[in-house]
Amino acid sequence: MSNQHFDVIVVGVGSMGAATCFSLASRGVKVLGLEQFGLVHENGSHAGQSRMVRKAYFEHPDYVPLLEKTYALWSDLEEMAGKKLFHKTGIFYAGPKKNELLEGVKLSAQKYDIPLEHLNEKDCAKRFPSFKRPHDYEYLLEPDAGYVIPEEVVKRYCDLAISKGATILENQRVESWTDVDQTVTVKTRTTTYTAKKIIFTAGGFTQRLLPFLNTRLVTRRQVICWFQPKNPAWFTSEKFPCFLYTTQDLPASFYGFPMLPLGNGSGLMGIKIGYHAPGVAIDPYELHNFDREKESKMIKEFMSVYIPEGFQTVQTVKSCIYTYSDDGDFILENHHEHKNVSLACGFSGHGFKFAPLVGEILADLSLEGKTDNPIDFLSSERFRM
Ligand SMILES: Cc1cc2nc3c(=O)[nH]c(=O)nc-3n(C[C@H](O)[C@H](O)[C@H](O)COP(=O)(O)OP(=O)(O)OC[C@H]3O[C@@H](n4cnc5c(N)ncnc54)[C@H](O)[C@@H]3O)c2cc1C
Repeated sequence: MSNQHFDVIVVGVGSMGAATCFSLASRGVKVLGLEQFGLVHENGSHAGQSRMVRKAYFEHPDYVPLLEKTYALWSDLEEMAGKKLFHKTGIFYAGPKKNELLEGVKLSAQKYDIPLEHLNEKDCAKRFPSFKRPHDYEYLLEPDAGYVIPEEVVKRYCDLAISKGATILENQRVESWTDVDQTVTVKTRTTTYTAKKIIFTAGGFTQRLLPFLNTRLVTRRQVICWFQPKNPAWFTSEKFPCFLYTTQDLPASFYGFPMLPLGNGSGLMGIKIGYHAPGVAIDPYELHNFDREKESKMIKEFMSVYIPEGFQTVQTVKSCIYTYSDDGDFILENHHEHKNVSLACGFSGHGFKFAPLVGEILADLSLEGKTDNPIDFLSSERFRM
């Protein structure tokens, strides 16, 4: 058993952990990132080729000031990486009038002056002919939104963190931790590490390490499908936007992306579609064990009716983790009993776009005990009120 000492240990090097390792290493901190699987894998929340980045936030306007900062950090990351990572396609929103999605988008856009185009049926027919366009629906376009490739982002942050001195170890599952006498001790199967501070960014596995969140977080399987379209030329990112589409039959929205070029992310090519609502509660280690035919039925039905030209065949069906908090808002804070412990979890299926800022905030919380960013609404204290 070897024993190694660090300033900060980050548990879980996925979306938030990779960005956090980078933020800490950039500030000259001796950081250790421990990841239970290989770096960039399909067993958590960061796989699947694409993540939307949008600012007219239907979930709540309180997220918009954080998004303003995050957009700037995406540009910084592109500059450091020397590569385009944020692909601006715009996001098309559709749904019945007075729908929660559309009302939320309009509220945030209005409050924070975010560009938003209101499209009539004729505009839609011209610009987005692939979608079915019911007469009584409302259509919006957020032109400055787009997507990033999560696998590429996690890899970039790890590479940058390592280049600034971080140690990031793969296949090191943290099995236990303690915080006693100003020292945090972390045990994996083979090694014991110590540090002054610890940060948990363990996604859908968080509750195992932080039992106080057991009743607040639920890990769920989300099913996603890739479709080979009838006419691929209509579905390239020049012609087809990212979208969120609520139908009159179901409460939540379907979402999707244009066809992405081969060689990006996991290398799949096709139109990726999912349904943004809580999936089946699971043990995260059983993520891939499910009935693909049964659990993809609803998505296939949506495609046949609302984007019929996009559905020639189903290329593949995969699964990914959403970790829902009780209210769908993130948990981002210092532990209420252990001041050396910070945590970020409960991203409830909409966290990836914030990863660069979450990394900065966690570094602030861990090193300074506070942050200037407006995150009071993300404290788990809200569940104790
Ligand atoms: C299908 C799908 C579509 C999505 N679409 C969007 C979108 O369009 N826009 C958006 O903003 N967000 C989206 N999200 C949500 C977003 O991807 C997540 O909110 C985000 O990835 C969560 O990051 P995380 O760091 O918490 O989890 P992860 O990226 O899963 O990272 C957690 C890491 O911790 C590791 N870990 C856990 N336990 C241990 C342990 N004991 N020891 C060591 N390592 C451990 C895990 O292996 C994992 O690598 C989507 C999610 C899914 C599943």
